[in-house]
Amino acid sequence: MGIIKKLDDNLVNQIAAGEVVERPASVVKELLENSIDASASYIEVAITEGGKSLIEVVDNGVGMDKEDLMVCLDRHATSKISGKDLVNINTFGFRGEALPSIGSISDIKIDSFTKGDPNGWSISLKNGNAEVIEPSSIRSGTKIRVTDLFDRIPARLKFLKTNGTETRHCTEVIKFLAMSHPDISFSFSVDGNKKFYWEKNESGLSEDFEKRFLQIMGDNFITSSLKVSYRREGLELSGMIGMPTYNKATGREQYLFVNKRPVKDRMLMGALRGAYKGLISHDRFPVVILFINISPLELDVNVHPTKSEVRFRNSSLVRSVIVKTIRSSLANEGVKTSAEFADKMISSFKVLPTNSISSQNSNVTENNPIDMNFSPSSKSFNNEGFEKFFDDEDHFPLGAALVQFNDTYIISETKNGLILIDQHAAHERLVLEKMRKGFLSNNVKTQILLIPEIINLNEEHVSTIVMQKSNLERLGLFIEELDKGSVVVREHPALLNNIDYKKLIKDLLEEILEFGNEFVLSERLDSVCGNLACHSSVRAGRRLSIEEMNALLRDMENTPNSSQCNHGRPTFIKLAIKDIERLFGRR
Ligand code: ADP
Ligand code: MG
Repeated sequence: MGIIKKLDDNLVNQIAAGEVVERPASVVKELLENSIDASASYIEVAITEGGKSLIEVVDNGVGMDKEDLMVCLDRHATSKISGKDLVNINTFGFRGEALPSIGSISDIKIDSFTKGDPNGWSISLKNGNAEVIEPSSIRSGTKIRVTDLFDRIPARLKFLKTNGTETRHCTEVIKFLAMSHPDISFSFSVDGNKKFYWEKNESGLSEDFEKRFLQIMGDNFITSSLKVSYRREGLELSGMIGMPTYNKATGREQYLFVNKRPVKDRMLMGALRGAYKGLISHDRFPVVILFINISPLELDVNVHPTKSEVRFRNSSLVRSVIVKTIRSSLANEGVKTSAEFADKMISSFKVLPTNSISSQNSNVTENNPIDMNFSPSSKSFNNEGFEKFFDDEDHFPLGAALVQFNDTYIISETKNGLILIDQHAAHERLVLEKMRKGFLSNNVKTQILLIPEIINLNEEHVSTIVMQKSNLERLGLFIEELDKGSVVVREHPALLNNIDYKKLIKDLLEEILEFGNEFVLSERLDSVCGNLACHSSVRAGRRLSIEEMNALLRDMENTPNSSQCNHGRPTFIKLAIKDIERLFGRR
């Protein structure tokens, strides 16, 4: 009857473009990947109006000859796959659909040159048809210009965001690809203005990657992050992970790669969340660059048209390796806090007018530094251990305690600077880590309550909490059922005082009920210990002697994860001498 018709080629391409090309950044991604596949060592990207009116990518790769140029815009034309092997693919492309798809929704012009040819060639495609091929003056590599993206498809144009947002998406794409290719120089301009130029590093060593991370992420990230590496047969992890205190409002700065391919994969992002759980507030995100290398046989990259999701054969293994590797790197680091905070601190210092300090009637306001409440215990007063703690920064990175002020903060000194410690946040962290350790080693000191505390609950809650009785005892919390509607608390962890039991039990119940039968205390340990620490009064606002201050600093140095409190806030801030010099304009 002839109802079934073959779709018109251009229509097929537009449908494919619907999958591959969502926005200008998707075009940038496809073009960059092609340049990388063509062994370019230099790639220049220029966009105007967020890429809506122009996207141009110039590379110095192997190029295409006249014959290749004529077919590269045809559907399923690819030079990257031989025969039928879909498993061992080491290039980015292999479907041969990017160029024809892009050509179907924009105007495209490609100039290219291959070694050995007397001259280059240029092909252009307007309105999805009428290819024109002619000689070009290009003398190296390939230059692709994509203009007026989506102009012929108003429905798609409508969904594009502001030029600024589209530019940001393009920038992210370049960052991602540049991170995994330190041996390629990248340059980027927006509306005629150069945004960055990242020179290639070609030693072939891992330092190349570190230099590239520095180019892309800047100084602050590098000083606030740790290197990670893990290597077992068939699975390798490497990269840099931000300290919990260096956290962001979105997960945008989580750069994940699987076999060098950038991915935005939900399972992997979930693994990061798991790795930073309890170290960072639940609505904040760590900054992470993580390369996962795994045998191609262990995954299927072909599940998503833009290949941004991956499927691992054994995803729970990958997840647990990521969580364990990150957690143990963070725990081993001991004391290191985000450099960002020193910067914030410097910029928050107000420069007072020179006469305001000497003036008799100076207006001492709440924020005025003069108003601080110092307790006098400086090093000149028999500060035992001062020399030792001051001199040996390797062993005592938190230095020698000098003074306490507002009964809340400790100031200490090292050879290279000053440190400000939030005594309360630090103590809360120490308590949490000690409770965790006590639980895991079955060795928690408890204290008997002089007057047992009775808490009224409903029947279901009584039975729920009593079911966890033996687990809670391992944490030092002894709870018994009194009757159907109440429980009694008889002993508490010796580390904690003045616990608000009502609130604590309410929070514990919430946590247990959320997970139902799947609640396993050892897996929720951070969160439960966090609840405990949070509902007790730890040593805040207490006057400390120099010995007690030094003891607290040494305790922090020996406790994993002590650089941030349970909410990802820093427990201390370091001001290097050079920061202080900057503050006084000496640098
Ligand atoms: P794929 O990358 O999946 O092969 P594309 O449509 O992206 O499909 O590209 C089609 C072909 O055009 C590629 O296989 C490659 O041979 C050629 N090509 C595209 N861009 C370039 C470039 N910048 N340099 C050299 N060859 C290129
Ligand atoms: Mg391609």
